[in-house]
Amino acid sequence: MNGTLFVVSAPSGAGKSTILHRVLEEIPAVAFSVSHTTRSPRAGEAHGRDYFFVSQQEFAAMRRGGAFLEAAEVHGNWYGTSRGAVEEMLGRGVDVLLDIDVQGALQVRASGLTAVFIFIVPPSLTELERRLRGRGTDSDEVIRRRLANARQELLAASRYDHLVVNDELNQAVRMVEAVILARRSQFRRNYDNSPVRLDEVLDGPGA
Ligand code: ADP
Ligand code: 5GP
Repeated sequence: MNGTLFVVSAPSGAGKSTILHRVLEEIPAVAFSVSHTTRSPRAGEAHGRDYFFVSQQEFAAMRRGGAFLEAAEVHGNWYGTSRGAVEEMLGRGVDVLLDIDVQGALQVRASGLTAVFIFIVPPSLTELERRLRGRGTDSDEVIRRRLANARQELLAASRYDHLVVNDELNQAVRMVEAVILARRSQFRRNYDNSPVRLDEVLDGPGA
């Protein structure tokens, strides 16, 4: 049984990492695809958990070797999704969450892979700035660059299958979880992989 690929994008600071951490805790058989990046680790980030932090040279060599399902330069650093890791998880029947930017999402769409695309937005650009500053992990210059990019990224939201507004956190988490669970219950996917046969249910006790 194959898992489903969920591509999740949002302007930086919208709360995507916060939401995805909750989803990973709360829904079984969902995994996070840990990307490779040339960005430096932030305080509290761990190699192999948040990202694989690699040099520009290592990243370029992996990219040339076809190691990435998609790769893009975002806010001045390179990021890429490991093709092998994603295929291995999907093959085990695990649903995989990709936290990637709009350029990467469009590459996944163009690749022909089946995926569900979710876009997360903040309630306003003012609130986005407040969250970026409140997070306290980025310099003024980095925050300015991320806010400028946010306007561009928001314009791509209509190309996604689902839009989730992250105003009240619990509601946004529930909405993303609902998309994943709805996908799991889709008739063909659910029925083909389920040990339950409808004719047995219909002929069983209570018939
Ligand atoms: P992203 O991964 O999208 O860049 P983060 O998950 O790091 O964003 O969230 C940015 C900041 O906003 C963090 O400090 C986080 O605690 C805060 N945050 C996330 N969601 C909400 C929310 N619904 N309401 C208020 N603050 C939030
Ligand atoms: P951050 O530096 O804040 O962790 O991430 C910056 C942006 O890079 C976010 O929009 C995030 O979704 C995106 N990103 C993280 N990993 C990948 C990846 O593997 N590929 C692409 N295309 N974008 C990524």
